[in-house]
Amino acid sequence: MRSLGYYNGEIGVLEEMRIPMNDRACWFGDGVYDAHLCRNYNIYALDEHIDRFYNSAALIDIRMPMKKESLKKLLMELVRNLDTGDLFVYYQVTRGTADREHTYPDVPANLWVTIRPTELDYEIGPIKLITMEDTRFYHCNIKTLNLLPSVIAAEKAKKEGCEEAVFYRPGGRITECSHSNIHIIKHQTLITAPADNLILPGITRSHLINLCLKNGIAVSEVPYTLDELYSADEVIVTSSSNIFRVVGEIDGMPVGGKAPELISFLAHKMIDEFIQSTDRKSDIYRSGYGYD
Ligand code: PMP
Repeated sequence: MRSLGYYNGEIGVLEEMRIPMNDRACWFGDGVYDAHLCRNYNIYALDEHIDRFYNSAALIDIRMPMKKESLKKLLMELVRNLDTGDLFVYYQVTRGTADREHTYPDVPANLWVTIRPTELDYEIGPIKLITMEDTRFYHCNIKTLNLLPSVIAAEKAKKEGCEEAVFYRPGGRITECSHSNIHIIKHQTLITAPADNLILPGITRSHLINLCLKNGIAVSEVPYTLDELYSADEVIVTSSSNIFRVVGEIDGMPVGGKAPELISFLAHKMIDEFIQSTDRKSDIYRSGYGYD
C-alpha cells in the first residue's frame, strides 16, 4: 500500500477514504493531532508524541477512544501495511459526530490516522525566514486542528521564497514558527521560549534541550525578542519533520553564522540520534509493545 487512511477501525487507501460530514472536525476543527516520522518501519519518539497527544486531548476534554498502549500498537501495525518504512505518520482525534452545535454532546470520539511515504532528508540549511505578528490564540500548547493563522503564515513564507514564518507577539516577544520551534544561540547558550501557552512544546525542542544539557551547553528557557533574534550568534529551527535547520537569513537580512562549530555539533548529534534510534526494526520490538 502506498498511503493509508484509518477511521474508527476502517482501513483503506488514503485518497479513497471518506468520513461523515458531521464529524466535528468539519464544523469546528474540534480535535487535536500529532505527527512524526517513521524510518525502517520504526516510529520515532513514539512514547513522547503519544503522551503529548493524550495531553492535548485532555486539555480540550476529549475522551480518548482507546488507551495509549493500544494506540501505539495500532500505529505500529498500520505502518507495516505500507510499501516503504520511511513514512510520515499523522493521527488526530475529533470530538465525535453530531449536528452542528457549539456545545458538545456526549458522543464517542473519532480516531483518524493517515500514513504517507516521505523522503527523509537530513539537510541542515541554512534556511530563510520571514517574521509575522503572532495572531493566534492563547492555547498554542494544545496541538489543535485549528491552524488557520499558521496556514496563512506558512503560505506567505513560501511565496517569499522562505522556509518558515517566525511569529512574534505585540512587544516583539518571539514565540515559535508556523509549524516548528525556534531557538537562538547567544554566548554559547541555547535560548528558547518557555513552554507556556504561547508555544507548542515541541518534541524536537525537548530533544535539543536534553542534548545541550547532556553536553554541558547552558540552556535558558526565557522569552526573547525580535531584536535578540536578529542579533543572535545562531538561529535554529526544529520540528519532527525537519529535525534541525540553521537559519541564514531573516526578513532579507543575514543572521547567525557566529558559532558554526556549536551548530555543527548540535546538528550532527540531533540527526545521529534520529538515525540510531530508527536503524533497526528490532528497536520497536525490543521496547515491548508486544507486536510481532
Ligand atoms: N510548533 C508548532 C506550531 C508546530 O506545528 C510544530 C510541529 N508539530 C512544532 C512547534 C514542532 O514540534 P515537534 O518538534 O514536536 O514536531
